[in-house]
Amino acid sequence: MAIIIPKNEFEIIKKHAAKIFPYEACGGLLGKIEGDDKIIVKAYPAENRFGKITWDSFEIEPKDMLEMDKISRKEGLEILGFYHSHPNHPAIPSNFDINASWPYYSYVILSVKGNEDITDIKSYLMPDKNSTPVAEEVTIID
Ligand SMILES: [Zn+2]
Repeated sequence: MAIIIPKNEFEIIKKHAAKIFPYEACGGLLGKIEGDDKIIVKAYPAENRFGKITWDSFEIEPKDMLEMDKISRKEGLEILGFYHSHPNHPAIPSNFDINASWPYYSYVILSVKGNEDITDIKSYLMPDKNSTPVAEEVTIID
């Protein structure tokens, strides 16, 4: 399984991460499953419930979850995963990320060095809280 993100949606994610830098940005990834792939149609920048946190935890504000749900239903999409940034840290899930994860969803992590400087992008599936996250392929398409 791979996660496919159109370039213009990736730009939204990048800009969001740059705007919130040096704090952790987070948001939702709405799309459709096609065959073995998760095709992202819409990136939804959300608010981090933890506010100005530096890198190791995020929780999407409930109002944003509700809004994403609403958009998904209206547009025939579903929430396939979440993205978040790790300012000045590698794109590896933190212990918090693993403990707060849900199976099924893709967790896209961006390592950000500043402004729009994304140094790495990875996606993980975290099937259960006691096991190692499984990396999945991320493809940015035009
Ligand atoms: Zn994280």
